[in-house]
Amino acid sequence: MREKIERLAQASRQLEPAPAQRNSWDDAVRGYAHSYIDSLPTGKAFHMPENPAAGILDFPFGEPKPMEQILDVLKNNLPNAGINPASGGHLGYIPGGGIYPGALGDYLAAVTNEYAGIFFGGPGAVRIENMLIRWMCGLVGYPETALGNLASGGSIANLIAFVTARDFKKITSEKVRKSVIYLTEQVHHCVHKAIRIGGMAEAIVRNVPMDGHYRMDAEKLAEMVAADVAAGLNPFLVVGSAGTTDTGAMDPLDKIAGVCQQHDLWFHVDAAYGGFFILADVENPDGTTIKETFRGIEKSDSVAIDPHKGMFLAYGLGAVLIKNVKAQMESHYYRANYMQDTVGATEELSPADLSPELTKHWRGLRMWLPLQLYGIQPFKAALEEKIWLCRYFYEEIQKLGFEVGPYPDLSVCTYRFVPENGDANEFNRRLVEHIQRDGRIFVSSTTIDGQIWIRLAVLSFRTHLREIDTLLEMFENGVNALKNH
Ligand SMILES: *Cc1c(COP(=O)(O)O)cnc(C)c1O
Repeated sequence: MREKIERLAQASRQLEPAPAQRNSWDDAVRGYAHSYIDSLPTGKAFHMPENPAAGILDFPFGEPKPMEQILDVLKNNLPNAGINPASGGHLGYIPGGGIYPGALGDYLAAVTNEYAGIFFGGPGAVRIENMLIRWMCGLVGYPETALGNLASGGSIANLIAFVTARDFKKITSEKVRKSVIYLTEQVHHCVHKAIRIGGMAEAIVRNVPMDGHYRMDAEKLAEMVAADVAAGLNPFLVVGSAGTTDTGAMDPLDKIAGVCQQHDLWFHVDAAYGGFFILADVENPDGTTIKETFRGIEKSDSVAIDPHKGMFLAYGLGAVLIKNVKAQMESHYYRANYMQDTVGATEELSPADLSPELTKHWRGLRMWLPLQLYGIQPFKAALEEKIWLCRYFYEEIQKLGFEVGPYPDLSVCTYRFVPENGDANEFNRRLVEHIQRDGRIFVSSTTIDGQIWIRLAVLSFRTHLREIDTLLEMFENGVNALKNH
């Protein structure tokens, strides 16, 4: 038996490469990464070939292959198909970028494979994650007793908050049909997913009317809650947005918090897109400041905030912050017999008791490392730059004859071109196609009240004036091309 084991070990030892092998792989991967980054300024933000990334399927597993050949497959199939999320020209949906030291954090997290699920297993890893969560709790004005969880993204962050609210408000099965949730039409669709996944598809979901800026009308909310209470229903949750995905609108958080306090409702703020703008020192044209528009977030019960958007990290990091961490724990903890050694009093709570996950990627290091390297200042500057870039575009696009939506609350705005003759929706659909065919800059569109609007979402750390000017030029050419058609 020993002989057989030794023979197998011979083959399986390949999984631990020798230092020379590690070096050569590192060099190849690093070369690829650096040339990728260096190619971004001249590359496209969007390209959709006939049969995108088909070459991936021609490369099955089986025989071992050299690293260079494998990297070539990536090089030939990935950058020129679909959206390039690393490009500063990505101004559609909600971009972010992927700052380089974040990748180094991911690399070390994978090499060390620290266990960030339970304090007993990885006290340092858990401390780092909890420290980040407490930092974000501090940003939104939560007390030191608050905590939360580093999730894979905003969708899971919202789900954790929703389930916590449901359980804390004791919405047992017999109460579901009478329980009421308030949000607006502009809430992110992942909230509706969370409601369904959280077993509350049969609950009453009310769309609170919005003002002309697509912000929740807090007075209407108050009226609706009072009417529902009078009708014997069970209002329990309001979801506000600190930056809606579609139009970037900031709901009036302070007023909503007042309604929630009055009626004892759980107030959840989806700040997945906009949350980090709380760092920005920027004045609004009406004399208020961006920071002031966040007022009231500290009165909420939970917040979802996405570092893979506003901290410019690569995809895979969203956070949920929960004021009453005991409530979060009651919804998410588990004790199994095989985990009995891990139970013990420590000052750090374990992520596994605060989320559906047990074993997970140590995702905190990708945020902790850049924050330590750079400090907070460059992030703050980048966020402020994004706000000003959006405002600049908002002004310049009007000079090209475009109609615009509301003045941007943060770094998203909407606009459309209304031609003298013909259908405006059709024109803007074709205009977006024109921009996407060009591909240097990528923008996406949305439909609001039956009208097609084109969006600008500035949140990649690589987006600067150059990209905005290029886009303006593309729109000018696009309108001329379509008009003369
Ligand atoms: C992006 C976004 C989400 C979803 O987050 P993911 O990280 O994509 O899962 C939720 N809410 C808002 C406001 C968002 O912008």
